Amino acid sequence: MKINNPLVAAVVITVATALVIGYTHIFPEIAFVTIITYISTIVFLSLILALSAWIYRKHKSSVDAGDIAGISENLNTEMIIWTDDFSAVYMNRHMRELLGIQGNDFDYKAEIMKAFGIDSLEKENIQKIIDNTSHEARFTNANNSVTTIAWSTSLVKKKKNLSLYLSTGFNLTEIKKMRLNLASTNDLFNYSMSLAEIGILMSNDMVNYIASSETVRMLGLKSSNINIKNLRSLIHTNDRLQFDSAIKSAGTDDSNEVKSIELRIKSADGLYHWYSYRYKPMNHSGGKLPMFSGALINSSEEHEKDLIIERLAYIDDVTEIANRNKLTDVGQETYEQCRLLKCSYWIIVLDIDRFHIINDSYGYKNGNNILKSFANIICKFVTSGGLAARISGDNFALILRDYGDDDLPSRTAKAIQEEFSKLATGDFSSINLSCSAGYSKMPEDGNSFLEVFEHAEFALKSGGNENNTICGYESRMHDSIIGKTELEKELAVAIDNNELQLFYQPKIDLSTGKVMGVEALIRWIKPDGTIVRPDAFVPVAESSHLIGKISEFVLNEGCRQNRLWQKMGYPEIVMSINFTSTDFYQKDLKDKVFEALAKTGLDPKWLEVELTETLALSDIDYAVSQMNKLRELGVKLAMDDFGTGYSSLSYLQILPITLLKLDRSFIIDIEHDNIAYEIVSSVIRIAKSKKIETIAEGIENPAQEDILRKAGCDFGQGYLYGKPMPAEKIQEFFEENMKQTQNK
Ligand code: C2E
Ligand code: MG
Ligand code: MG
Repeated sequence: MKINNPLVAAVVITVATALVIGYTHIFPEIAFVTIITYISTIVFLSLILALSAWIYRKHKSSVDAGDIAGISENLNTEMIIWTDDFSAVYMNRHMRELLGIQGNDFDYKAEIMKAFGIDSLEKENIQKIIDNTSHEARFTNANNSVTTIAWSTSLVKKKKNLSLYLSTGFNLTEIKKMRLNLASTNDLFNYSMSLAEIGILMSNDMVNYIASSETVRMLGLKSSNINIKNLRSLIHTNDRLQFDSAIKSAGTDDSNEVKSIELRIKSADGLYHWYSYRYKPMNHSGGKLPMFSGALINSSEEHEKDLIIERLAYIDDVTEIANRNKLTDVGQETYEQCRLLKCSYWIIVLDIDRFHIINDSYGYKNGNNILKSFANIICKFVTSGGLAARISGDNFALILRDYGDDDLPSRTAKAIQEEFSKLATGDFSSINLSCSAGYSKMPEDGNSFLEVFEHAEFALKSGGNENNTICGYESRMHDSIIGKTELEKELAVAIDNNELQLFYQPKIDLSTGKVMGVEALIRWIKPDGTIVRPDAFVPVAESSHLIGKISEFVLNEGCRQNRLWQKMGYPEIVMSINFTSTDFYQKDLKDKVFEALAKTGLDPKWLEVELTETLALSDIDYAVSQMNKLRELGVKLAMDDFGTGYSSLSYLQILPITLLKLDRSFIIDIEHDNIAYEIVSSVIRIAKSKKIETIAEGIENPAQEDILRKAGCDFGQGYLYGKPMPAEKIQEFFEENMKQTQNK
């Protein structure tokens, strides 16, 4: 109760004084007693009032605590007012509800211990609450869930041994839950990352990287901080260029796309494992460095699977090195890197000279062994970031990093040639193992990898059919080769449109003057009537697959025409056809010739195949075996252009030829040139001793004919008798010749 009404006292005193005055007037005889009684009463009342005031003041502290309690009662925070002897404990409604306290009758000591999270009310426990600006307490609330409250306690009043405290609570339950969630999310994240073997590598200056614990574990790092130099040193040398270009492009990339690079990185076990680094370049504008952060995923397993797929798609079966697909992929990637990183690479294309000879004469197994050995040789020359590949049959390619040494490709090609030639031992001792090379440089030699590669092939072709050539690409080559490829296309169309035709040049028996044969010489008659000579297109056909088609036509058409003339009643003559090395070294040459003869019904003795000296001598053993096969059929064999190549008469001993064609260069001035005459007559003599007939090419005048006849030459061919001419024309020639020589 509160005693705080002096007005009541004033009214009481005024009423009492008025009553005393009135009473002394009514009863004067007892006025004295009345006044004495009144004064005594006033003194008594004053004493009562003084006592009340004292009690009021004494009570005032209780009223302060009450005020606080009143105010706090409805506050939505936890509050406890307590004395340190726990004689008075007040908990606001919020706190009471939290503890499930109903009414005033509760075990306040037990509840306060619960609220403060202490197990006793001992002094040191209480001191902890008082001293701690944030005393954390956990207890199970009325809803059976855990509540955490941080108590802040302050002294309200202290009197002698008694202190009054106000504790204000701050409920941490939700925050704790959030923290717990955060912690568990983080744990879960780390756990998932380690389960999935996903590491994180982050950098915002492209120099210093922070590695997640999983990255540290995977790569066996000493610390989670790693700088780019150390990181790069862990990357396989072949993959560093890719890493560099990823970093470089991240600096300018604002595509905001997730990128991925595959890298081999030295891992905790000291071995290289494949990792996929998926990152998102974030190129901050305003001159800030880009961010290069991403996930590092162990992709070794995928790579193993990929390897199987890659084996099928990208590895050459025979040599087990990269195939053309792989070369194209790597080449295109390297070309991009060249542009980006301002570096350059060489591409060297290599071709084993006359490989078909090796293949056909020693069989596919040995041919494959040569290819494997060649692959091994070229692999030795591959340097970091480079590649060796087999691109087709006997064609290989090398990608080599350029370090500013312009001699590198030719030096490498030469070294390969030397190593390759050393393989010509044992079974292969009789073959000349050589290879030719063409090279170009990327990115400068083309607008794409494929163009640069094509230019290396141009360079290779520009070496011609010679052995052991090494040619670098020059832009001026381009035009002539483009011309060549255009010609190739045109020729292919011409073959399909039957624009090729055989002309025939007569061959005369020098003793009788009679036509004893014709040489079939190919002509390309364009729709406008232009006649193209073989020198202009046969070499192009030879460097492409077109020669096969041409030769097939010549063989069949020559046999058909000769048989036709026989049927037409012309005297039987020999039809000579020319073969290139590609034709001659075909494995099924005998079958093809046999078929042509069988199909047309021509007796083999009326067919002659002309081979050049260089062709026959490029692989003498195989040439002899092919020649023998044709001889077995009964076909005649002529050695064309004799005297232009090796001109070794000893070959006449080995080669099963039936006719020797003396080259026009001996005949051209034979009537004046004694040396030429001596050579020619010796050759004729030796040939005769070997039962080989002789024919002189390019006889243009009767003097030449005369000399040759006297030297013992059997036959003659040249403009003196007739130029190559179409079938109808040569028929006229036959008739004329028959008339002129009928008596001989
Ligand atoms: P080849 O086999 O030595 O043919 C002889 C060449 O000499 C022919 O040139 C012929 O026209 C030319 N000739 C003949 N007599 C004389 C003469 O008295 N004076 C001069 N100046 N030249 C003469 P053609 O027809 O242009 O053939 C050139 C070469 O083309 C041939 O040389 C042969 O190697 C090749 N060739 C021609 N036709 C074919 C063919 O059907 N297949 C193949 N693979 N090559 C062929
Ligand atoms: Mg010829
Ligand atoms: Mg000739």
